[in-house]
Amino acid sequence: MLLRGKTAIITGAASPRGIGLATARRFGEEGARVAILDIDGTAALAAAQGLGDAHIGIACNVADQASCQKAVEAVVDGFGQIDILINNAGITQPVKFLDITPADWDRIQDVNLKGILFLSQAVIPHMRKRKSGSIACMSSVSAQRGGGIFGGPHYSAAKAGVLGLAKAMAREFGADGIRVNCVTPGLIGTDITSGKLNDEMKAKILEGIPLGRLGEAKDVAGIYTFLASDLSAYVTGAVIDVNGGMLI
Ligand code: NAD
Repeated sequence: MLLRGKTAIITGAASPRGIGLATARRFGEEGARVAILDIDGTAALAAAQGLGDAHIGIACNVADQASCQKAVEAVVDGFGQIDILINNAGITQPVKFLDITPADWDRIQDVNLKGILFLSQAVIPHMRKRKSGSIACMSSVSAQRGGGIFGGPHYSAAKAGVLGLAKAMAREFGADGIRVNCVTPGLIGTDITSGKLNDEMKAKILEGIPLGRLGEAKDVAGIYTFLASDLSAYVTGAVIDVNGGMLI
């Protein structure tokens, strides 16, 4: 078991088909205790109950600093330590550049980017005390391609910001034994994408994916597991593509 004895926080992990929940399940299988943090507190509790005794569910809005502090305190009270933080929560909005309103911009940056700042600020002091920790942050192929199918330009900007923020964190906290890495998934079949592709759109997308299929939540969960585990002990500031070869 790759994560035996470790404790983890995963944000945005309550959605039944989501990457976060697939990761919470995989981490449990690898021997970790997992706190599922989600803006939907009821769904977070249900998700944790569905996964068993090693999981707890806590309501947390990552875009709210006080909510992040409170949730992290609850995890430390429950688990005593935090070894792994998966900054996974995110939202998207398919909108054209000229149509983005100030409120749209703020909402997308607040959840996808500022949420990573707030939650990491709450967690890092605990990792620092123990001179150990692994943080993984969710970016997207949208950051690398300057656009995606479902995300607007403000989403691309937020996810590109995640790459810079994570690298700065990796540089600053390396001496504290804390590693920080990013994942950049391509198109993964979750609630963010489901029901939004007709057959023609899907065929066109698959032409650009050498592995010939959309990604699954468990494909990303596997990379999060690698980054959380000691298998990646000498990896920090890295960006791992999980896109079936979309950028080759
Ligand atoms: P999802 O909608 O299934 O999961 C997102 C989760 O985040 C939900 O459980 C939601 O309740 C939660 N959430 C939303 N706002 C929150 C907030 N303010 N605080 C806490 N939790 C909040 O989608 P998913 O596809 O599993 O997405 C997970 C991450 O992966 C997101 O950051 C997304 O941008 C990113 N991503 C997804 C794809 C894809 O194709 N699905 C590709 C690249 C990146």
